[in-house]
Amino acid sequence: MSFQINPLPYDYNAFDEYIDARTMEIHYTKHHQGYVNNLNNAVKDTEAADKSLLDLLQNVSQYSAAVRNNAGGHFNHGLFWELLSATPEQAPSGALKAAIDAKWGDLEAFRAEFNKAAATRFGSGWAWLYVDANGGIEVCSTPNQDNPVMDLNPTGKGTPILGLDVWEHAYYLKYQNRRPDYINAFWNVLDWKAVEKNYAAALK
Ligand code: MN
Repeated sequence: MSFQINPLPYDYNAFDEYIDARTMEIHYTKHHQGYVNNLNNAVKDTEAADKSLLDLLQNVSQYSAAVRNNAGGHFNHGLFWELLSATPEQAPSGALKAAIDAKWGDLEAFRAEFNKAAATRFGSGWAWLYVDANGGIEVCSTPNQDNPVMDLNPTGKGTPILGLDVWEHAYYLKYQNRRPDYINAFWNVLDWKAVEKNYAAALK
């Protein structure tokens, strides 16, 4: 059984005002598909071929750099696509709102910390909101296609519930060097309903 890319739940031009269609198309059909293809090649005829994606990530220190980069790339993009919507819930509610308010004071203060993690990640990587081993929520950023699931960094380990791709391929056509503008635009298409769903699953 090889790793597969899920269909996008919207058209490439669904968020044109914030993320342009050409970027969406290349990002999904070339970058994400490329990670999936390279992952399948990297695990072919090895014991890793029978592992789940989560299993590979949780034990990634035992595998090659190709598995680390491409399993990370596949997982991260799969999560990212599911967070975007043309009709997003613009703010969290319920248990997630309560957790964010308890930790940061309010949504704006959380966003400021997340934006900083995304803006200051040097080179390519991701910013994350994740649930840690104690059920608390934290913000971090990781390089390349790493993520908090990986057994690489004992601090910053957990289940990601919100991730933002800050590789240049995610924004360069529309925003060029203006990564902060892309980060600000992202909040307009982030569906908090999806984050809440991930939060509830992570706490189980
Ligand atoms: Mn990407």
